Formats: sequence, structure tokens, C-alpha cells
Amino acid sequence: MKQFIFFLAFFSWLSFAFSQEEEFKPFTEDTSIISDTENFKPFSEKTDSSHHICNHTCVGCPNANNNSIDWSWGSTLMITSIALLLTLISGIMVRFEKMRPYRSLMLLIGLIFFGFYNSACPCMISSFQHTILYITGYDTNWINVLWFIGLIPLTYIFGKVWCGWVCHLGAIQEFLFRPQLKHWLTNNKTGLILKIIRYTLIALLIVQLIIMGSIFWCQIDPFKAIFNIQLNYNYEITTLILLILLLVFSVFSFRPFCRTICPVGITLGWISHIPGASIIGLRNQQCISCKACNEACQINAIIRIEKTSFIDNKECIACGDCINSCSQCGLNFLRKNSKNKPVQAIQKCNQ
Ligand code: SF4
Ligand code: SF4
Repeated sequence: MKQFIFFLAFFSWLSFAFSQEEEFKPFTEDTSIISDTENFKPFSEKTDSSHHICNHTCVGCPNANNNSIDWSWGSTLMITSIALLLTLISGIMVRFEKMRPYRSLMLLIGLIFFGFYNSACPCMISSFQHTILYITGYDTNWINVLWFIGLIPLTYIFGKVWCGWVCHLGAIQEFLFRPQLKHWLTNNKTGLILKIIRYTLIALLIVQLIIMGSIFWCQIDPFKAIFNIQLNYNYEITTLILLILLLVFSVFSFRPFCRTICPVGITLGWISHIPGASIIGLRNQQCISCKACNEACQINAIIRIEKTSFIDNKECIACGDCINSCSQCGLNFLRKNSKNKPVQAIQKCNQ
């Protein structure tokens, strides 16, 4: 059902996008171009400095040519506030069994609003990069860091609900995923390799930001290519390769981008180490070793080693599927105890 809704939304957006083609007019008849003199001024002459808030970082991004988007201070603040509000609502919803089935709906809202409507810019990954630039002393507007900074307390209180319930990048991967096909990248060894790739990439990203002082990722971001399809746009070859890899892997593997590249998912995951943070754990000793939670967790946050299940809360996206799957009502959201180990054993079964 959720795939059907996704494809319906996707194709509606596609037909909308392509119906926006300008009618052909002789250049002299196009008065909108002539009257919009503000667009012809050099940046230094612009009177409203709140516009072009992200301008120095978005060169090369398909959005940079999209004049329909209002790049104002106010719109960035509004989009950020909506992102944080939806995360807060999702954090409350996941606590209630009856609300958990609405996760797909929340993801669809995130996909349509942050992805197709806002063309995936600004987003939490650009906000993460602005935060690094801000910390390291580069000139960036504080409004750009709010999205990522705001997710930190919300993740501490509710877990990574942004990832599991709202994120448009996570949503598009999840809707493309075909659970009935053979899955790639599922065993424990691959999980370890993916983690190594992830840590290497985030280290490289931080080094690049510190050295170059600009957001290079926006120039090759494959998600922007998806959400800003322009037939006449000359995409970077790197973007096209990443786009093809992303689409193919998303069909055969659950959220491959989240598990290998996303710097936001990895940093928000570290919050689960902080005492008092929201984690998933065993609240009673009723485990019957059925492996239901293990099989329910599509992102492989619960792994099985012999007869013991382990949960890595850094990877958990707070979807609530493992809680729903446990016939013994054994799993739930808990607060991290400072004595807990980072990887918490759910149960040592059959001992
Ligand atoms: S890991 Fe990144 S892309 Fe994936 S859901 Fe989280 S923030 Fe979105
Ligand atoms: S551990 Fe549970 S709540 Fe976390 S991602 Fe896996 S199934 Fe979802």
C-alpha cells in the first residue's frame, strides 16, 4: 500500500514538474524578465541580505537555477521549524502502538514537503555541514545550523525519529526498497564493512569542509538530482553515477545511503551513548528466543550471533517495528543507563 501511495505521489509530481515548462515567447515579450531588475544586480548591490542565505555553497546545485524557490531567511526558518515539529510529533507517535502504523504516512509527508516541494534544499545534511563550518570559524549564517542542532535534543529525548519517521532521503530509499526481492548487504560482516566506509566518509567530509570551507556535497548530491529533475540540466557525471547507485541499491538493500554515507544519521546515532538518552531495550525477561525482533529490524540494528540478539542503538531509527513484533511485549523505549554498554544484549537465550 505504501509503495502504491509513493508511486502515485511520485508520478503526480513528475507530471506536475513537466507541465511547468514555460510557453515559448519571443524574448522581447517576456516582461517578467525585464521587470525583475533585482535579479540583474551584482550580489553586493542587493538590498535584502537575508536572501541568498545559502548562495556561496550552492553553486552547481540544480536549485541554484530554480528561481521559484524563495531563499529567504524566513523560509529557511520555516522549513527548519516544520522539520523539527514533525520530528517532535513523530517522537510522541512512536510511543503509542496505535500510532505506529502511521509511520509511512509521516514519511510520505516528509518526502513530499522536504523533497518534492522544497526540492531537498535546505536539508539536514547541508545544515550539518554548515554546523562544521560554523564551529571551525567559517562565515555562515547561524540560521543554517538550526536544523541539525535542533535534531540533537529531539534525538536525545525520542531516539532517531527524524531518520525513521520524517527524513525525505530515508523515505525515498524506503519506498523504493522491495522486500520481496533478494537483499544485498544484510549479513553481520557486511554491516561491519559498511560501518568502516561510513566512518571513513564522514572523516573525509569533515576534512574537506575544514580545508575548502565550502559545501562540495551539494554539487554532487544525487537526491537533489531526484527531487529537481530537469531534462535540460547538465548534471555532473559523479552525480549521475551516485544517482544510479542509489536507485539500484535502494531497491535491493534497505536504506543504503543511511547505512553508508549519511553524516547526520551517524552523528545522531552517537547520542544514544549519552546517559539518559532514548534507546530500545528489553524491559522484562520474557524473551523466548523467537528472533522476531531480529527479523523485523530492516536496518539491521538488531543482529543475531548464535542464540543471542544484540541491538546497536546507534543504528536504530526508532521505527518501532521490533516492539510491535515481540509477542512477549518484551521490548520498549528505555532511558540509557550510564552503566549500559554501547551494544546492549537483548537476551541470552536458552541458557
Ligand atoms: S541516516 Fe541520513 S538520510 Fe538516512 S534517514 Fe537519517 S538523516 Fe535521513
Ligand atoms: S531496533 Fe527496533 S526500533 Fe530500532 S530500527 Fe530496528 S526495528 Fe526499528
